[in-house]
Amino acid sequence: MKSEFPLIGIFGGTFDPIHYGHLRVAEEVAETASLKEMRFVPAGIPRLRRAPVASLQDRAAMVRVAIRGNSRFILDEREIRRHGVSYSVESLRGIKQELGECVILCFITGADAFMKLAEWHSWRELFGLCHFIIAARPGHSLITNRDALPRELKEECAQRWVSGPDSLKCASSGLIFVAPTTLLDISATIIRARITAGKSIRYLIPDAAIDYIAANHLYSRYTGEG
Ligand code: ATP
Repeated sequence: MKSEFPLIGIFGGTFDPIHYGHLRVAEEVAETASLKEMRFVPAGIPRLRRAPVASLQDRAAMVRVAIRGNSRFILDEREIRRHGVSYSVESLRGIKQELGECVILCFITGADAFMKLAEWHSWRELFGLCHFIIAARPGHSLITNRDALPRELKEECAQRWVSGPDSLKCASSGLIFVAPTTLLDISATIIRARITAGKSIRYLIPDAAIDYIAANHLYSRYTGEG
């Protein structure tokens, strides 16, 4: 049975910095799945990857200026207020508690991030809190080849795939939908490297975020990955 509860998108990421790869996925997923809102949740200290280059405050500020003017997009600063390591499961619990039972949460991830889901803290619990909407990402084959998923994750997901966004209204959590999105081969890594090399990042990220980076001298003294 279909519920009339609104779908809320939760887009977690380091956003170091936010770019058009993120924004286009957010826009297309929100449209395809008729999301009521899309919450961008910049990660505090990620547990599974190297520390972000820009501070939490700067990464949130770049998201704020980048999403300005889109009434469906919201900056959610809960991981910034929380000290220490960021766990998506805690953020989702918090959002669920705040918004109540009358909404359906949908966590948005790129295919690369979803492949590593079984490494996340309390990852199986996530299926009791939200649906997943996955966006294709150049170089990541998940969309055409689910066999590429690690065994444990593949088994957990086996009965959860749905082929259309309408199915997400038929359960409060636990389903997985692969959304059709425009493939954009843009990453924050490439953007940071271009800034450090003194190269243009115009048309890869919104102008307002470029202005913020320039005004705050972000990434320019950064000497690369590793
Ligand atoms: P970095 O290059 O620093 O690893 P990133 O560009 O992957 O960063 P994140 O903030 O780590 O950006 O990504 C947040 C989420 O957005 C992840 O789920 C990631 O898979 C997804 N994502 C990022 N860029 C794209 C893209 N170009 N297309 C589809 N999904 C993307």
